[in-house]
Amino acid sequence: MAKICLCLTAKTLKRNLEILDKYRKYADITELRVDCLEPNERLLIRRFPEQAGMPVILTVRRHIDGGQFVGGEGVRVNLMARGLAFAETDRRRNFAYLDIEDDLDIPSLEEAAGTFGTRIIRSYHNSQGTDSNLLAKIRSMRHSGDEIIKIAVRANSTKDVLHLLKAGRECPDQEKILISMGHYGTYSRILTEQFGSAICYTSAFAEEDAPPAAPGQVDVEELSKLFHFHNITKNTKIYGITGNPLRMTSSPNFFNTVFELEATNAIYIPFPTDSIIDFMEIANYLGLEGVSVTIPYKEAVIPFLNSMTDEVQSIGACNTLILTPQGWKGANTDARGFSGSLLAFLSRENFKRQRVTVIGAGGAARAVVYELHRLGAKVLILNRSPQKAALLAAPYKCAWGGLDEREIPKIEKYRDIIIQTTSVGMEGGSLDMADPLAFYNFCGREEVMDLIYNPRMTPLLRRASNAGCNVLNGYDMLIRQAQYQYAYFTGKEFPGHLLARIQYGEN
Ligand code: NAP
Repeated sequence: MAKICLCLTAKTLKRNLEILDKYRKYADITELRVDCLEPNERLLIRRFPEQAGMPVILTVRRHIDGGQFVGGEGVRVNLMARGLAFAETDRRRNFAYLDIEDDLDIPSLEEAAGTFGTRIIRSYHNSQGTDSNLLAKIRSMRHSGDEIIKIAVRANSTKDVLHLLKAGRECPDQEKILISMGHYGTYSRILTEQFGSAICYTSAFAEEDAPPAAPGQVDVEELSKLFHFHNITKNTKIYGITGNPLRMTSSPNFFNTVFELEATNAIYIPFPTDSIIDFMEIANYLGLEGVSVTIPYKEAVIPFLNSMTDEVQSIGACNTLILTPQGWKGANTDARGFSGSLLAFLSRENFKRQRVTVIGAGGAARAVVYELHRLGAKVLILNRSPQKAALLAAPYKCAWGGLDEREIPKIEKYRDIIIQTTSVGMEGGSLDMADPLAFYNFCGREEVMDLIYNPRMTPLLRRASNAGCNVLNGYDMLIRQAQYQYAYFTGKEFPGHLLARIQYGEN
């Protein structure tokens, strides 16, 4: 079983022990990052394993490898030797592991470690990128038979993660630790088991004086509470969400809570990606069973489908992938999630006699326009790129236009309901304080919906509300579409009685 290792990066041993005590219930082992200690504290590390009361990795990470040690190699080796000195017959009082870099060849250290049962983790770090020769590295790094190989390389793209995953799969029997560092590789940490890796390194993000030890780490508490790391085995069904950016997604919280309450052996994790092509290869490699697809891949994913629902066919956007024996099936749950939410808000059964302006013509807008048309509305589509609005409008014979003040007269004819579907105003986006309809003054009688749910009140919704409009954000739609997704993923109706117990969270 893969282990959780809590990295300790505080400046003093006392503080590291406090942090360890606070989070020890989540961790199996801990790593003392000696390079992060104050210089005088580094001399006192020998008793740390005994004080820690769990297996400890001794690491003195160099600056070039992402650590804080800037002294000479002699001093660094001396620190490691100090950690191994006066070894005790009771091995629990010794460091359980010593991390030595690939290019460090000090036989006396290796001998001392071997004599007292300290295992060597032979590590290679590249904080800039992912090397092309990873497989050869994994196969050639070991200096002696008992060493654990550790490869920690920066993923600058999903292709880099794929490269590491494939290299690991080529040597299944080798005991190793494989980490794709950085944002794109975070799931390589959560899926430690699936990457054929032995240890997941984490930090305690709430402790400000002990910053995360490496980019892309997952908080130790989140790893256990949200992702149920210790329950992930080779038999665990893996689901997830892909898109870019994904920082603000609440879906892991939703699905993992339901899986936990239902005692389902399944996990749902974020797969941020810069390439839907490479992500689909990752999905196949990892054996994903279902995927939520979000901005900006809802249209780009369609060529990867082996079959699709009528809705995807008509809408031209897919937000749900389900693995079937015949390959990937695409569905769209945004459509029913949207109409269910807005109709409930308006206490209506359809949109007959409603004149509606839709802002945006992306994947979400496609589902919105499809539903508005199906349920009887007359629609105007406005988009920054007017040609995309025209393309979306054509099959439904909607009115369309650009996104500027020249369209105000048209909006005035289509303003029973105004629906914002662009990503403008989304927290963490490049335009998170922006209002895509800033040129239009609300008269106060419009019903206004923004599909964005984080923040709950976008600049556009706030302005509409101040003008007297009824406003609705995308939160309820999100929950509704997630329930449909759950049914697609598991083949079971969503257990409605659980809804009250699910904390969807602000994000
Ligand atoms: P998408 O396919 O990438 O479409 C993005 C849309 O935003 C396009 O119309 C694009 O216009 C427009 N846009 C982007 N930047 C803009 C800017 N600076 N100024 C004006 N328009 C801009 O994305 P999507 O999948 O439709 O998602 C859009 C939003 O809906 C996201 O915020 C997403 O979180 C939200 N959403 C919410 C739910 C929910 O359940 N609540 C469901 C689905 C989507 P161009 O065509 O000119 O590029």
